[in-house]
Amino acid sequence: MPDFLTEEQSELRQQAESLAQQISEMEMDSSDPKKIQLQIREKSKAAGIFHLTQPIEYGGLGGTAIELTIARESLAIKNVGHLPGIFGPNPGLLSKASKEMKQKFLDPYLAGEIESGFGFTEPSDAQRHTWAKPEGEELVINGAKSYVTGGSNADFINTLVEVEDMGPAMILIETSRPGVELKTAFSSVDGSHHASFTFSNVRVPKSHVIGEAGTGMTRALEQVNSVRMAIAANCIGLNQFVCDLVADTLKSTNTDPNHETRVKFGRMRTHAFAARSSVYRTARLIEAGENCVNEIMASKILASESIAELTDIAIQVVGGEALIESHPLASIFRRVRATRLAEGPTDTLHANISRGCLDLNLGRI
Ligand SMILES: Cc1cc2nc3c(=O)[nH]c(=O)nc-3n(C[C@H](O)[C@H](O)[C@H](O)COP(=O)(O)OP(=O)(O)OC[C@H]3O[C@@H](n4cnc5c(N)ncnc54)[C@H](O)[C@@H]3O)c2cc1C
Repeated sequence: MPDFLTEEQSELRQQAESLAQQISEMEMDSSDPKKIQLQIREKSKAAGIFHLTQPIEYGGLGGTAIELTIARESLAIKNVGHLPGIFGPNPGLLSKASKEMKQKFLDPYLAGEIESGFGFTEPSDAQRHTWAKPEGEELVINGAKSYVTGGSNADFINTLVEVEDMGPAMILIETSRPGVELKTAFSSVDGSHHASFTFSNVRVPKSHVIGEAGTGMTRALEQVNSVRMAIAANCIGLNQFVCDLVADTLKSTNTDPNHETRVKFGRMRTHAFAARSSVYRTARLIEAGENCVNEIMASKILASESIAELTDIAIQVVGGEALIESHPLASIFRRVRATRLAEGPTDTLHANISRGCLDLNLGRI
């Protein structure tokens, strides 16, 4: 597929492909995940990929939307994009924090000394969304968050909180503060780890509000949008990995694939092409500074739904062997299921796209 990449972008693709090749050839001792992560990190730094996620003012490369898409897709094409250590920690919301907060939290976070979580999702039985009451120079926070990835190891959680008389705000809450309780730690089928938290009269200084109070939802959505694009780029790379795997399987069998299998394979490639075109177009729109919240939702939907469908078809074509735990399709099947829910379930995103058009008269799609 033509990508109309510049020379620099083509070079970046080659760097990411070479890194992906090196990682895929690594011997991984699964009993020592920390060691694997460190090895991958060193390779990624040497390949010029690690610092893409970090802004130039923090010593990073400040990768653009299209550069990040190229890198993530290239790594996923070799089915290694999900491994930890490839990309450096990203300031995310904390880039909007005050100088004092940046010194206290962002610098040690970027140095890998402390860890963070993102508290957005409320428990399904919440009577009221997590809220805060101003008291003097402090905010008193009550409520709960149900699905904080990396929560068990997090030193602080960037939490969406409804502040009385001000509106939604992103507030940095240290997990060591009195009143913060880790209720449950759990893992999901994709292999990631999460925790649920409750907040009972947790007191934080008002300086812990990230950016202006009242802009919390916008701030949270900025972060959500960049993760949606990361998910989408990873899914389109996996689409190609799965298509390549099925092509190899079909070519290696002695019998010519029947018509039905050919139709299935053509359908896989068509859906992969549609998702990929959408993700690259959206990355270019972001790079042009356009408001593309709808395009990001559509790209995340197309990419996550297509990889789910492609993996399912691929398993059917390859047969029972594909369900053996050590087979790449078995692992992809588990990992990609989460992408249709995380950062917004497909139906919710579809409903939001409708709302943009029908109620707000906004957006291009
Ligand atoms: C791997 C993984 C990592 C995650 N990490 C985090 C994290 O770090 N921080 C965090 O805060 N959350 C995290 N989440 C939670 C995730 O954001 C939520 O699961 C997701 O937003 C869906 O919310 P929910 O689970 O409450 O389901 P619900 O919102 O209750 O949705 C359930 C069903 O109802 C449908 N539905 C709901 N509302 C609508 C609507 N308006 N229109 C149409 N259909 C609708 C949905 O499509 C879906 O089918 C993670 C989830 C996963 C799977």
